[in-house]
Amino acid sequence: MEFMSDMLSGADAGKPSLFEIVAQHKMSELLEPALRHVTSVYAQRYPRYLVRVLNWHEEVYAALMLLVERHYLHNYGGSFTEHFYGTKRVRTRKIGGDGTLTRGDVWRSLVFLVGLPLAKARLDQRYERSSGGEAARLLGGAFAQHNEPDEPAQAGWRGQVQAAWHTAARAFWRYYPHANCAYHLATALYYVAYMFDRTDYNSPWLHLLGLQVRRLSAADYRAMDARGPASSGLTAPANGTVLRAIRNMVARLLTGGLDVLRVALPLSIFFYRFLEWWYRSDFHKRVQQTPIPPAPMPPKPHPDGVDVPADRTLCPLCKAPRTNPAMAPTGYVFCYPCIHRRLVDVGTCPVTLVKADPAAIRKLYADS
Ligand SMILES: [Zn+2]
Repeated sequence: MEFMSDMLSGADAGKPSLFEIVAQHKMSELLEPALRHVTSVYAQRYPRYLVRVLNWHEEVYAALMLLVERHYLHNYGGSFTEHFYGTKRVRTRKIGGDGTLTRGDVWRSLVFLVGLPLAKARLDQRYERSSGGEAARLLGGAFAQHNEPDEPAQAGWRGQVQAAWHTAARAFWRYYPHANCAYHLATALYYVAYMFDRTDYNSPWLHLLGLQVRRLSAADYRAMDARGPASSGLTAPANGTVLRAIRNMVARLLTGGLDVLRVALPLSIFFYRFLEWWYRSDFHKRVQQTPIPPAPMPPKPHPDGVDVPADRTLCPLCKAPRTNPAMAPTGYVFCYPCIHRRLVDVGTCPVTLVKADPAAIRKLYADS
């Protein structure tokens, strides 16, 4: 693939290669399951607070990402993962300005960075719940078998609303797989076109927004350093009032927290990947293997019980070599007929005088 990166970098040094773009998209796809996993691990420990968070995971995640992505777009001109890979978004339609993002660009970017994945996740779930699996969502095979509950038709406006709802639901079943397929196809086509330099946009959404992802240049880094610490855009000039001071302090804390995420979010992915490996491999079983406890001590022979012959192949009851050896629950071995008769008649082990049931006699198949 050497020649390909040479070919691409020869054309435009500021244009990230497809491999960087794919890595970046993979990372943003991994963030959600990673955070879900971390939450579910903690939800087992603190179910009272976190189970609700887990049930609304998509929405909570979207709210968090809204905050994070807005911060990164506002301060660094790129989404969180774009900035992580040293790239930023640049306006291709320069209407005045120098290509930096406007407030409108930031909000439109957020719709596609946060809103679209959330909507798609919810629609996928809805489709999957009553169709049966990932394959059906992609191929659309199951919508024909989709069984709607036969509700009795109601009269008046309620009936009309119900009918409209059913029509909409049926259209969803019919067309969602196609829409989904088109979505994936468009993404793939843009990748191919991007690789062969047919387009400057690595996704249809960026094309729609008129934004291009470019590498950060040395000048960009110098400008970031010169500007000092990132701002949340929420701080207001101090005017001596306590309220304003508190507001600025909260804004600064929020900004600091969001900058920490640059390290914390990728770390959560590594943590997730590690846990995944840990539970899939049997490495953790080897580590957690408990040592075998020492064998239990044999019950002591009772002074009033029968003597155990020194020759262990003899039956303590008939003192003859054992025939059909069988073990009482206490661990002593006799002939099966001897011990059975004894337990039925007396109900205690003849050696230890411990209570024993005839049903608990075990036959020895390998007598030594
Ligand atoms: Zn015997």
